[in-house]
Amino acid sequence: MPGRFWIARTFDRSYSLRCVVFHNISAEESPFTKGMGVSTTPSDFEAALKFFTRYYTPVRLQDVLADSDGRGLPPRAVLVTFDDGYASVMEMAAPLCCKFGIPAILFLNAAFLDNDGLAPDNLVCYAANVLGMETINAAVRAVKRTDIPKLHSLAEVFSCFFPSISLTERHVFLDALTHLCGIRERQLAQEEGLYLTREQVGALAASGFEIGNHTYTHLHCRSLTPENFAQEVDRNRAELEALSGKPVRSFSLPYGSSVDLTNDLLSHLKLSGHEAVFLSESVANPRGADRHHLDRVSTRAGVDDTLFLEIEILPRLRAIRNRIFRSFGLVPKGRKTPPGGQRPSIFYQN
Ligand SMILES: [Zn+2]
Repeated sequence: MPGRFWIARTFDRSYSLRCVVFHNISAEESPFTKGMGVSTTPSDFEAALKFFTRYYTPVRLQDVLADSDGRGLPPRAVLVTFDDGYASVMEMAAPLCCKFGIPAILFLNAAFLDNDGLAPDNLVCYAANVLGMETINAAVRAVKRTDIPKLHSLAEVFSCFFPSISLTERHVFLDALTHLCGIRERQLAQEEGLYLTREQVGALAASGFEIGNHTYTHLHCRSLTPENFAQEVDRNRAELEALSGKPVRSFSLPYGSSVDLTNDLLSHLKLSGHEAVFLSESVANPRGADRHHLDRVSTRAGVDDTLFLEIEILPRLRAIRNRIFRSFGLVPKGRKTPPGGQRPSIFYQN
């Protein structure tokens, strides 16, 4: 394995900080997650942590922020992150991270803490698994848009439909879906207990986990106008700071696409004290990478060969691809990745 790292390095030496994103750590899928590609089994997660401790140097957000010239990080630095605040982070992931001495950032949506509601992705997933895609399409029709084709899969909901609708249309869709499912959303969320409680967030922060911002209600940030930032960005940050007793210094984009990091949002994040912004397009971060465009690799693998491929090889190939596209002017201004090249954090097809 060490020889393979050396070979990987020969064709792109600039790859510096490895960032990895996990979501739900669970041996079993529920109707709320089945088909979303967000669950890693505890045994695969433990194998990944062993892989990190054997071949990498796990670092904290503070180490990344302190690396002002791009040369302060140890060789093969790896930063572990979790998105979406699943309860399994407290039950399964945090004890394993502590066991291996691996720090991590938890990017949370305050709206769903204490299971006060269901995140839109989990609601859609539940509807599709329990009632079928026809129920999803019926809720889509409530939006009254003629340009939205029939949806055939969860992937199409998250990667095509959600990014194309406004905040208002999103509310109409989710209200219609809740009604069609015949559920009381809060009651169902309480019964399922999918997410962390506020008390658990405080305990995790006290034990050294960094708490990060992931928007208040988990949406595609391209649909936000500057008027929405107070509700989705600032409110979430303030609530998380109150729970953790520590400053929230980082932000991860729901769905991980650079398209969602608009200039207005980036300016707002910088002005409001977010010192690092994370995407999930699985592209290698070069040495001295812009801290407001740090990329992460989504992985659910528990085998060394696959982890090596996903963390060492594929991000380098994507970085090379992006450089080639950029040199030919094929990457639109303001985007990091060529059209079709971004890999959302959800639905990674590994
Ligand atoms: Zn998310």
